[in-house]
Amino acid sequence: MKMLIDGEWAEAASGETYEVRDPANGKLLDTAPLGDARDVKRAADSAHEALKKWSTMTARDRGKILFKAAQHVREGQTDLAITLTREQGKPFKEARDEIQGFANILEYYAGISAALEDSLVPVAHGKYGAVLKRPIGVCGAIIPWNVPAIIMGWKVGPALVTGNTLVLKPSTTTPLTNLALASMLNDAGLPKGTMNIVTGPGDSVGEEIVRNPIIKKISFTGSIATGKHVLEVSASAMKHVTLELGGSDPMIVCDDVDIKKAVDGAVHGRFYNCGQTCTAVKRLFVFESVADQFIGQLKARVERLKIGNGMEEGVDMGPMNNEAQRNKILKQVSTVRENGEGTIITGGAVPEGEKYSSGYFYMPTLVTDVQKDSVLLNEEVFGPVLPIVRVKDLDGAIERANDSKFGLGSSIWTRSLERASIASTRLDSGITWINQHVKLPPEMPFGGVKESGIGRENGLESIDAYYELKSILVNL
Ligand code: NAD
Repeated sequence: MKMLIDGEWAEAASGETYEVRDPANGKLLDTAPLGDARDVKRAADSAHEALKKWSTMTARDRGKILFKAAQHVREGQTDLAITLTREQGKPFKEARDEIQGFANILEYYAGISAALEDSLVPVAHGKYGAVLKRPIGVCGAIIPWNVPAIIMGWKVGPALVTGNTLVLKPSTTTPLTNLALASMLNDAGLPKGTMNIVTGPGDSVGEEIVRNPIIKKISFTGSIATGKHVLEVSASAMKHVTLELGGSDPMIVCDDVDIKKAVDGAVHGRFYNCGQTCTAVKRLFVFESVADQFIGQLKARVERLKIGNGMEEGVDMGPMNNEAQRNKILKQVSTVRENGEGTIITGGAVPEGEKYSSGYFYMPTLVTDVQKDSVLLNEEVFGPVLPIVRVKDLDGAIERANDSKFGLGSSIWTRSLERASIASTRLDSGITWINQHVKLPPEMPFGGVKESGIGRENGLESIDAYYELKSILVNL
């Protein structure tokens, strides 16, 4: 595929491409342009020029284009989901849900577009001021490979509806879905240059997006390490920044819970997308009194999960997305083994067999008796490995849950309103789910506290992050 610059499908300035391969079997899927700083400069110039038209349209008219694009996405959802499964690895059903999620996000922003108006503010008897909402300008969006369609939606929806233009960089392993979605936005009537996609590595394309002086806001989703670098570079140019970073979400299972529902929740929360979700359940705290029952049922359930190519019927868990990511998991699990940091009760290895030999598969893994200083509780575990810790009561669970540099999501599983309410207020995270985990509807603001990020995406709150407000005070 080619990338999208100034409304045209373009080669990289270098003329080079790189290969995009299927993580389930290593087969070549397509190539993408190997962009560099020159391509970002062209895209930024084009996005700057496009502001003249796009920023002066009404939000309602911009919303109509987003709505039309969402319709195109719904019509093409099967092909889009196949592309997503093939380049990312997730089961087809999860991929289709993600594509529908992208359409939902565009429709959400299209729906609120008509209400995005400047406001008149009474300041004294008979006197008024006005607050103008002006787009920031050209925005840079940098996204990861784990949920590429949804995360693209979280950035494209609010940036475009508020009149900004964009330069977006997909992850190197998952550019194809992002390019296909961009083509649908283009076909829906985005003026040329309004949305540009530059494919290529983080240290050239990503770096130039963050450094380019024409780009006034950076919305970044990815790891904490890269996020800190993005923040440092942006600070010197005083850019607006939104950072959605890593997490290590705790799930607290109380003793009054419906065990089966909590087991289902833990399986979905941890093993959905092969454990590669920012808000996956990454640390599980279970009350001692129900721990044996809970762990027994969870183990049986996990051992029934069908692993395989995401395009195969009935597959519950596909491969991991890339070799580097699987190597991190291999290293974390061998550290646990070597240092005696926990007991691996199932999994803990690459599955055996010919069908797994050329993909990045890893078995769903449960670890109990996890030591407090284990890597599994202190680093982000971005794969299908779940550490389980026994706790005495809710106070103990919350204390352990909050003992982390991360603060993205958290959940409590209980029938008690009192416990749910205590946990919702005391857990340090951007979202606390009660008897569920992972779900992020576009209507609710989402983001992290502590090192998990700065700012919020989704909800009406995301809109403010793409405006410069200007107050006008009149004295006639
Ligand atoms: P990553 O930080 O390695 O890469 C993210 C993006 O940044 C990629 O497009 C990459 O090419 C780019 N990049 C790399 N170096 C760069 C640089 N110097 N300048 C600018 N851009 C650069 O992360 P990843 O491995 O792709 O994604 C996994 C991480 O993302 C996990 O930590 C996960 O928790 C996090 N994540 C967070 C959220 C959230 O909403 N909080 C959502 C999804 C993923």
